[in-house]
Amino acid sequence: MSDETLFTKIINGDIPADILFEDEHCICIKDIHPQAPTHVLVIPRKPLPRLCDATQEDKVLLGHLMLQVGEIARKLGIDEAFRVVINNGAGAGQQVFHLHLHILGNKTFDEGSLGMH
Ligand code: 5GP
Repeated sequence: MSDETLFTKIINGDIPADILFEDEHCICIKDIHPQAPTHVLVIPRKPLPRLCDATQEDKVLLGHLMLQVGEIARKLGIDEAFRVVINNGAGAGQQVFHLHLHILGNKTFDEGSLGMH
């Protein structure tokens, strides 16, 4: 059995996904179970399992991902109000152990609430 993550399979084209943007370091896909009218995932090609597995070696990559989030939010027209979520670990709700940033937009966010729903 392959130990590739679901997202590596999507990156490699082995599993279909709605890819909105991509560059040499990451891809952006629509989430299959959206939690907001706009819900996309920014996924590095490098299969870091969790945010806390990143090291100094990943500093530039992490900065790139954050810049891409802003750029993608602008392209999607949600840059005035969006939320970025990274779940780290099963206890935080992480299901796919390949780092990804959720971008949620086009919904009303409760003040003071940090939840995805
Ligand atoms: P996590 O819970 O790990 O932070 O987020 C994983 C996300 O991946 C979930 O929001 C889930 O809906 C999404 N997801 C799971 N399987 C697939 C899939 O096959 N395709 C796409 N596009 N998204 C998926």
